[in-house]
Amino acid sequence: MTSPVDAPAPSGLAARLSAIDERIAAAAQSAGRDPEEITRIVVTKFHPASLVQELHGLGVRDVGENRQQELSAKEGELEALDLRWHFIGQGQTNKAAAIRRSADVVHSVDRDRFADALHKAADDDDLLDVLVQINLTDDQGRGGVVPADAVALAEHVLDLPSLRLRGVMAVAPLDEEPASAFARLRDVADAIRGVEPSASWISAGMTGDFVEAIAAGATHLRIGSAITGPRPDRG
Ligand SMILES: *Cc1c(COP(=O)(O)O)cnc(C)c1O
Repeated sequence: MTSPVDAPAPSGLAARLSAIDERIAAAAQSAGRDPEEITRIVVTKFHPASLVQELHGLGVRDVGENRQQELSAKEGELEALDLRWHFIGQGQTNKAAAIRRSADVVHSVDRDRFADALHKAADDDDLLDVLVQINLTDDQGRGGVVPADAVALAEHVLDLPSLRLRGVMAVAPLDEEPASAFARLRDVADAIRGVEPSASWISAGMTGDFVEAIAAGATHLRIGSAITGPRPDRG
């Protein structure tokens, strides 16, 4: 028998993870939602594979990366672990095959050509889960399709048999209340469900706005720094 003093103190990482999970559960409860229907993805970009391994040891199974090279390297290194890799970054068509090889879900399908490139990279009857990324800002240069074109892009994805359309993804603009931005996302999600009823995922909510995202119906949260700590300086 070990006395309590012998038990290792939880690491900073474990403490931050459980604190966030408590806040997610509380936000779900206040929104009248079941926390079980919410997937918390830990965004591990810029952190080493060893941190992902540590998270896996704490029970994390869903992790997110925003750059193809980093995704491929970490997924390759941690192949033996049962992790689901979410690609959440801007996708280049010439990287689509590499993204497809390493990702289980691609959140950032923002144009027909990227969807086509992901489809062309399919092996046999392999299915890839994808989300259509919606641009909630007024800046057309930001990632995502404008809301008015979202259903057309969703219909394009539905014509590509190796892609399984699961729903929508967005990042809230910096200059707007997240609640109003997420309400617009919800409208786009509803419109897409009108053409594909099973596309029920809403990927929204980061460190600064996951509570608002949960209130607006998010099913997948992408939380980085609140769990991993500040990202290492990439300078
Ligand atoms: C980095 C990133 C996140 C996580 O951001 P935090 O503020 O660290 O939680 C979520 N979504 C996308 C698309 C990101 O690039």
